[in-house]
Amino acid sequence: MELDDIDTITVLGAGTMGHGIAEVAALAGYNVRLRDIEEEIVQDGYDQIEWSLNKLAEKEIISEEDRDAAVESVTPVVDLEEAVDDADVVIEAIIENMDIKQDVYQELDAAAPDRTIFASNTSSLSITELSEVTDRPEQFCGMHFFNPPVQMDLVEVINGKHTSQETTDLIAELAEAMGKSPVHVRKDEPGFIVNRILVPLMNEACWLVDSDVATIEEVDSTTKYDLNLPMGAFELGDQVGNDVTLHVLDYMHEVLGDAYEPCPLLQRKVDDEELGKKTDKGFYDYENGGVDIPMDAGREDVENRLLAIMANEAGKLVQKDVAPVEDIDEAVKLGGGFPDGPAKMADKAGLDSLVETLEEAHDETGHGRYEPSEGLEAAAEDGGFYGGSDEETVSFDTIRVEYPSENVGQVVLDRPQQMNTVTPELLDEFGAALDELEADDDVRAVLVTGAGDRAFCAGADAVGMAGSANPIDAIELSRHGQQTWGKLEELSMPVVAGIDGYTLGGGMEMATCADMRVATERSTFGQPEHNLGILPGWGGTQRLKHLIGESRAKEVIFTCDHYDAETMADYGFVNEVVDNDELEEQALGLAEDLAAGPPLAQEYTKKAFLAGRDDTEAGLEVEAQAFGHLIGSEDFLEGVSKMQSDEDPEFEGK
Ligand code: NAD
Repeated sequence: MELDDIDTITVLGAGTMGHGIAEVAALAGYNVRLRDIEEEIVQDGYDQIEWSLNKLAEKEIISEEDRDAAVESVTPVVDLEEAVDDADVVIEAIIENMDIKQDVYQELDAAAPDRTIFASNTSSLSITELSEVTDRPEQFCGMHFFNPPVQMDLVEVINGKHTSQETTDLIAELAEAMGKSPVHVRKDEPGFIVNRILVPLMNEACWLVDSDVATIEEVDSTTKYDLNLPMGAFELGDQVGNDVTLHVLDYMHEVLGDAYEPCPLLQRKVDDEELGKKTDKGFYDYENGGVDIPMDAGREDVENRLLAIMANEAGKLVQKDVAPVEDIDEAVKLGGGFPDGPAKMADKAGLDSLVETLEEAHDETGHGRYEPSEGLEAAAEDGGFYGGSDEETVSFDTIRVEYPSENVGQVVLDRPQQMNTVTPELLDEFGAALDELEADDDVRAVLVTGAGDRAFCAGADAVGMAGSANPIDAIELSRHGQQTWGKLEELSMPVVAGIDGYTLGGGMEMATCADMRVATERSTFGQPEHNLGILPGWGGTQRLKHLIGESRAKEVIFTCDHYDAETMADYGFVNEVVDNDELEEQALGLAEDLAAGPPLAQEYTKKAFLAGRDDTEAGLEVEAQAFGHLIGSEDFLEGVSKMQSDEDPEFEGK
C-alpha cells in the first residue's frame, strides 16, 4: 500500500487519545471511523472532537469549511465489523491492558480486510506480543502519539520484531501527512524512546528523595532551573499520573531487570491514591498551594545524578540500535519539551564525569540503575555521543562564530549579499552556534551582529518561502524560527544585538530576543509581514510587546512602517544609538561589561523575567497555526509578487 491508497482510518477507543487521534486524522482529510464499546462513550468522543474543531475555527486556525469537512468525515461506530470493514489503517487507542488489547486484536484480525495495517498507540506494551495474536504481524507496528495529539508534534513509529520496513515507512509517511514529526524506533524496547528517558528520570527523582539525598524542592529546582526542563521532575510525574509512571516502570522492571525497580516512594503514592493532578494530590497538593518550585534550591550533585541517569538510558538505546543519537534527542525534545536532547545535554556536562557519578553512586548503593551502560562508556571514550572534539571545529556556511575578546562569543550572520536573510539552514546553524557558546565556560556574554553594512538581518528569505506555500511546512517553519530565536532569549548569559542597517521582520524578531540592542544611527527597523499578507511568525506577535508595549507593537506590525534608530530608542526597543562607525566598539564594549557581571545573578534574572511573562506558549502556538494558514493564502502570493515588482499589493483577504 502507498500513502495515496490510504483513505479510511479507523480509530479504536474514543478516550483521551482516541478522540484526539481521530481529530488529527480528520483534519488531514481522511475518512475516520471512531469506535468504542458503548454508544455513549463513542458519542462523547465525537462531541469532544466537534467541540475542539469549533474552537479551532473560532480562533480562525482552520476555516469553517475545513471544520465542517472534518466533522463530517468522522463516523462514530460501536459495531467492530462495521468500524473496520473498509479500513486501510486501524489505529488502536484502547485501554492499556495486554489481555484486553490482544482480545481486541484477534477480533479485529478476523473482521478487517487483508490489506489493513494495524498501528497501536500503546505507551508501554510490547508491539511484538500484540502483533503475534494476529495473522499479519508484518503489517503491525506502534504509532505512539503524545497527549494531546492535536498539539503534540511527535509520533514514535515502532518496529515490532516482525514488522516489515514498508509498514513502518508507510505509517511514518502517514504521520507526516497528519502534520506530525515521526521518529523511527527501530526496536520494540520498553518505553520506546521518550518514556525510556523520562520514566527513569522520574524514578531517580523519587530515589533521591526516598533515600534522603535531596528534597522534592531541591530536585525540582534542579530539574526546572538548572537543567532547564519545562517542569520539575515531580511536577512532571504529577502531570503524567503516578499510576501511569509506575505502570510503565513495572513493565520495564519485568522485562529489563532490577535497574528499573520502582522506588518505594512512587509505589506508596500510588497505594495512597495520590496519583497527581488528576486526584488533586500527588507530590504536590493541588488544593493547597499546588506546585511551588524555588528558583535557587538546585544542587550540582542532584543535577549530575539526573543527567547521568538520562545519559545512561540514551547509551543503552544507542547500544541496542533502537535509534541514532540525533533521533533520541529529537524525540525527547518534541515529546518532552526539552530545550536540548539528553545526549546533547550529557555531552555538554562531559560524559567522563557522568560515568564517574554513576560509578560513585553504584559503589555507595550497589543498585543496578547506576551501572554504566556499555553505550555510555563507548560514547565517553569517543569524547561524547556526538563525537566530542569535532564540535569545536564545526564550520558553518551561513554564520560565523568568533571570540572577539576573552569572555565574549560573537555570532555573525554571514549572508551579506542576501542582506543576511534567514533560511532554515541559517536557523539550524544559529541554534547550533548558541549551543556551542552556552557550553563554553569561558563565554559569559554573547554579541550578535550581521556581516556587511547594509543589514543586520532583513528577515526571512520570503521569496524562497513563497515557492513552498504549504501550510504544514509553514507551521513547522514558524515553530523552527520561534524556537531558535527563543534559544537566544533563554541563553543563560547576557546577549547584545549589535545592529547596523536593515533589521526587518524575522531579523527584528531575533533582535527582540537579545537582552539589549545597540544600533547605528542609520539602522532601519520594521515588521513588514502584513505587507505580504502574513504575520510576524517567529515570535513577533508575542515578544515585541514585552519591550515596547502592546500598543506600540501593534503599531509597528499593523503599519509595516520603517522606523529609524532614534524612534526605536524612544519606543524602548533600542538601548543605545551610536555613530555609524562606532558600532563594533560600542556593542562589544557593552558585551564585555556584561561579561564581567555576576553570571549566576544574570542567569536567574533572565529566568525570572521569562518565568513571569504571561502564557506565551499559547500565544506562540496560535501564531504558528496562523502562519501555516496565511502561507497558503492568495494574499501572501500577492504580497510576494508585488514586493518583487515593487508595486503596492492589493489584498483581498483570501
Ligand atoms: P482512555 O481510558 O481515556 O480511553 C480508552 C478507551 O478505550 C475508553 O474509551 C474505553 O471505553 C475504550 N475501550 C476499552 N475497552 C475497549 C475495547 N475492548 N474495545 C474498544 N475500546 C475499548 O485511555 P487513553 O489515555 O486514551 O489511552 C489509550 C491508549 O493510548 C493506551 O494504550 C495508552 O497507553 C496510550 N497512550 C496514552 C497517553 C495518555 O497520555 N493518556 C499517551 C500516549 C499513549
